[in-house]
Amino acid sequence: MDSLSKIPVKVEQPKISYKLHWQRRALQFGTILFALLIPATGLFRIDLVVGAFVILDRQIWWSDFWLVFGTWMLFASGLVMVYSTVGTSFCGWSCPQNTLAEWANYLTRKLLGKRAEISLHGEKMQVASKKNKWSYWLLLGVILMATSMGIALIPLFYFYPLDVIWSFITLREDLRLAGSIHYIYTIFVLVIFVNIAFIRHFWCRFMCVYKVWQHGFKTKQTLHITYDKSRSDECVKCNYCETSCFIDLDPRKTDIYDTCINCGECVTACDNLHARKGQKGLLRFELGERHEKKRPFFRVNLGSLSTRMKWTMPFTLIGLVMFIWGILSYDRYHLAVYRADVMQSHGIHEYRIRVSNKFYEPARVSVSVEGLSPDQYKLESTQAVFDTVGRIDLSLRILEGLPAGLHSLLVRAQSKDGWQASYRVQHFVGRS
Ligand code: SF4
Ligand code: SF4
Repeated sequence: MDSLSKIPVKVEQPKISYKLHWQRRALQFGTILFALLIPATGLFRIDLVVGAFVILDRQIWWSDFWLVFGTWMLFASGLVMVYSTVGTSFCGWSCPQNTLAEWANYLTRKLLGKRAEISLHGEKMQVASKKNKWSYWLLLGVILMATSMGIALIPLFYFYPLDVIWSFITLREDLRLAGSIHYIYTIFVLVIFVNIAFIRHFWCRFMCVYKVWQHGFKTKQTLHITYDKSRSDECVKCNYCETSCFIDLDPRKTDIYDTCINCGECVTACDNLHARKGQKGLLRFELGERHEKKRPFFRVNLGSLSTRMKWTMPFTLIGLVMFIWGILSYDRYHLAVYRADVMQSHGIHEYRIRVSNKFYEPARVSVSVEGLSPDQYKLESTQAVFDTVGRIDLSLRILEGLPAGLHSLLVRAQSKDGWQASYRVQHFVGRS
């Protein structure tokens, strides 16, 4: 015991730290960058011409059912897990709407004074007298407009390749751009401008449907801010946490279904206030039942997570199986045969053989017809040659002279890389 008491014990004093604040900022701006990089790197895009998703230069059609719905189930169950575990933290840590609103607030205060807050509740904006000049207002308006123009470009990346977007930015004529794209872009810019100039957090507090959706999955155990009531006398002359909350909440009285977005700014504020006195703050993040005694972090977190996983795990597993099967059964090519709308005296004699290449790469597919002798039909070409992704229609004409009745023929397609498919056609010839 004597020797134990000789071991020097060093008590770590809490230090002023903005780590949480900067972690949040990094994730917020990282999310906007990520939203840009997803389409720019080809990870995910939407091809409006064929109405398909594009992942890594491969078209995914709605008919790729297992892949589309498997991915959707994985996402949905993952998100439910996230909502029920960390509540509306997405709003505080990732949502571009909140990021832009916070940034617009910061810019307004920087240019027009510390109390220059935009409010849609009818309160007048308090602009610092020496900053109430048209040059500051103009600068604010120009920066907000430039930001709106930049942000409004991001959705375009999901629908157009980079060279087309460059044509759009440099005002070069490009036939691949939709005729109405300039109107659509202008409307986007105006909506974003009005949003970041006037609406800002009003949207988050009263208008955001996605936030309401996330709320629906919150439980008593969801991540929340907890307050050490036993030290409440330290708050008598202080409301620093309240003033640091940009959602205008009192962090000491958070509830399950309030508007708290777990941003942690109040925790940083209180921690830093107390760090000056060498103490810990009164606010902290907590998972598990509210206001109960502090329990070991891992036990609470793992217990809380396992309860949620019981509900979401079956959907995650089904989604995963569908997804894996979707990948295994995914075909680069597609074959279909349609009746051409050409009616002749005694029925249909012409068909369209449609071969599709779902990769944005050159390809060659051979086509043949079985069940008829070569002098009984005329095939436009035995090869479908693609420069890139696309569909090629080959005409198949059944020549006159077939005996009356039902003729079964098989259209076969085969690519050099081993893919093959066939399509059976029942061709009817009536009596003349
Ligand atoms: S910042 Fe901390 S000490 Fe001040 S009111 Fe909030 S909880 Fe109390
Ligand atoms: S109460 Fe705290 S964590 Fe919640 S929104 Fe306000 S500052 Fe952020």
